[in-house]
Amino acid sequence: MAQASTTLAEDLRGLFRGMLRVDAVARRLYARDASIFEVEPQAVAIPQDADDLAVLLKYCQEHQLPVTARGAGTGLAGESVGAGVIVDLSVHFQAIRQIASDSVTVEAGVRYAALAAALAEQGRRLAPDPASGDVCTIGGMIATNASGSNLYRHGYIRDYVQELEVLWDNGESARLISPAARPCPLKRGESGETGVRPAAPPAAEGPRTADIRRGVTELLSAHRHLIACRPTATPYDRCGYRLDDVWTPAGVDLARLLVGSEGTLGLVTAARLRTIPLPGGCAMLLLGFASLEAAVRAGSDCRRFPLTACDLLDQRLLSLRRRPAHPGALAIPPSVAAALLVTIEADSPEQALERGWGLANTLCSAAGAVLLAEPSCDPQQQARMRAVRQEAVRGLYALGPGPRPLPGIEDLGVPAEELPAFIAALLELLQRREVTAALLIHLLTGQVHLRPLLDLEQPQDRVRLWTLAEEVHSLVLRLGGTVSTQHGVGWARTPWVERQAGPLYPLYRELKRIFDPRHLLNPGKIVGPDPSREAWPLYEPLAQTPAATLSGNGRRPLPVVFDPAAAAEAARCSRCGDCRTHQLPQRMCPLFRLSELELAAPRAKAELFRLLHNHPQR
Ligand SMILES: Cc1cc2nc3c(=O)[nH]c(=O)nc-3n(C[C@H](O)[C@H](O)[C@H](O)COP(=O)(O)OP(=O)(O)OC[C@H]3O[C@@H](n4cnc5c(N)ncnc54)[C@H](O)[C@@H]3O)c2cc1C
Ligand code: SF4
Repeated sequence: MAQASTTLAEDLRGLFRGMLRVDAVARRLYARDASIFEVEPQAVAIPQDADDLAVLLKYCQEHQLPVTARGAGTGLAGESVGAGVIVDLSVHFQAIRQIASDSVTVEAGVRYAALAAALAEQGRRLAPDPASGDVCTIGGMIATNASGSNLYRHGYIRDYVQELEVLWDNGESARLISPAARPCPLKRGESGETGVRPAAPPAAEGPRTADIRRGVTELLSAHRHLIACRPTATPYDRCGYRLDDVWTPAGVDLARLLVGSEGTLGLVTAARLRTIPLPGGCAMLLLGFASLEAAVRAGSDCRRFPLTACDLLDQRLLSLRRRPAHPGALAIPPSVAAALLVTIEADSPEQALERGWGLANTLCSAAGAVLLAEPSCDPQQQARMRAVRQEAVRGLYALGPGPRPLPGIEDLGVPAEELPAFIAALLELLQRREVTAALLIHLLTGQVHLRPLLDLEQPQDRVRLWTLAEEVHSLVLRLGGTVSTQHGVGWARTPWVERQAGPLYPLYRELKRIFDPRHLLNPGKIVGPDPSREAWPLYEPLAQTPAATLSGNGRRPLPVVFDPAAAAEAARCSRCGDCRTHQLPQRMCPLFRLSELELAAPRAKAELFRLLHNHPQR
């Protein structure tokens, strides 16, 4: 690999203006994202702009080099991890080009939080609000069809994409204008919709774009009846390529098709996105339940109210959160086995509060709930309520050595009415397999974030996780659910895509062939698995004893004093990517803030300890 990387660097010298790193350290630091997977790339490229990226893509196509786009690397499924060249779009591509009255044009590397702040000044917002929004990029959100806790009311980002600027595998650029800025089909209640617009005038298309459009049109029209049948019974499904809603009277909506394709069909450099007004009023409340089952059953009552979000935290999450108990933090009595954090947006604060009290009274009288925090529109009280969730999740990540909450099976979706049956079966399965786990459930949409606590440093737990994934995913599919409802497919879920898609799967393969005939764009994801590697390329465990000590081996210009205990401590980094934040007071590293380079992020420094421990000779 070293020779090939050097050749790449030499070939691109003078052609590629951005940063190109082929050294072992950079390659290792980009070998992981927020998932449990690790694949060392051949090179890391940080293009200056779209023209620079086009040069790189053209070269990679000519030399059969795989290319994987990367934003903030917060994917939980290994979506941005791959062999070949990792293209980091989070450093440049930072412009918010234009904020119009009901849309925004933004480049791919802009962080969601930065965009949200700019839009808020105009009284607008991009409605889907992922929990990773402080750090994740717009490009990553589009590529994963991101959504937030407010999915029930505001839908996926797919419903907000009006136009994409993309580059195909050969470096040709295209402007893909969605034939209509359609209303959100998942929308509940008022959402600041601007309605259907007339189709945009056709733009001059390059030859590759024309070929792709022709190929996709033929494929979809030949299989119109097949693509009309969704493989799942839940509408909250982002698995595979979504073909059922890209056919329009004005032709195929290529922009919409690309959303959620995880960089496997083309690379997005900029987007025009529909925005909606900030809510007139927003109330939050916190409810407690004596059992997880009772809280899950309350979901049907919740869905009768016009709620925006309803997140259920299980007892394990709550117990972790109880530990820090800051002064002023909301108290959660030990008798509470599950808590519901509810958000209600409305036209005015009064209306939001009224709806909040309506829900609280119903759940307290009919479902045995207790009110842990009254409906409130006060930002400080809302921050205290949100902190319950944040502290619980952080508490989970901060667990010491040993079993840790793992992503990999964390993105399950079942029809909301099946949720009680699913949770009962899931708990029974976990008990049978003697696995403890934490659950965060989006009650309105039937989405379950399952985090089994296993120790991937132990060989037996690496096998147990795969076995558990197989059983849990089978259960989900039996109930008409999806293995990927919010996060990406990536390495984690590609092995189950074919089973979920059924007769649609050959169409996915054909679609991939039309866009990327050489399988160079993020290969092995969605359409796969890649037979040349194991289905789950799990990260390398920490070596029991370091292979060699660094100091005094004579190969380093500086003497490095290295403490193996530090590696064990650094290995506790959950890879969540929170340290890439620019938000106060969480932001951490001035070097990262200055350079925006992943290599300078605290996460990379933690990874460096692991690398030094396992491979001191490198
Ligand atoms: C703590 C935590 C909470 C999370 N909460 C949510 C949540 O609430 N909702 C949610 O949807 N997700 C969530 N995620 C998952 C993840 O943050 C999202 O998928 C996010 O949109 C990824 O953005 P990113 O910039 O980190 O992209 P990356 O992880 O870097 O990349 C993700 C995928 O997008 C592709 N990609 C990136 N940029 C481009 C581009 N410009 N063109 C083409 N392809 C590209 C990559 O190749 C990869 O396939 C969470 C993750 C963490 C760690
Ligand atoms: S260093 Fe901390 S914030 Fe950064 S990825 Fe690791 S655990 Fe998350």
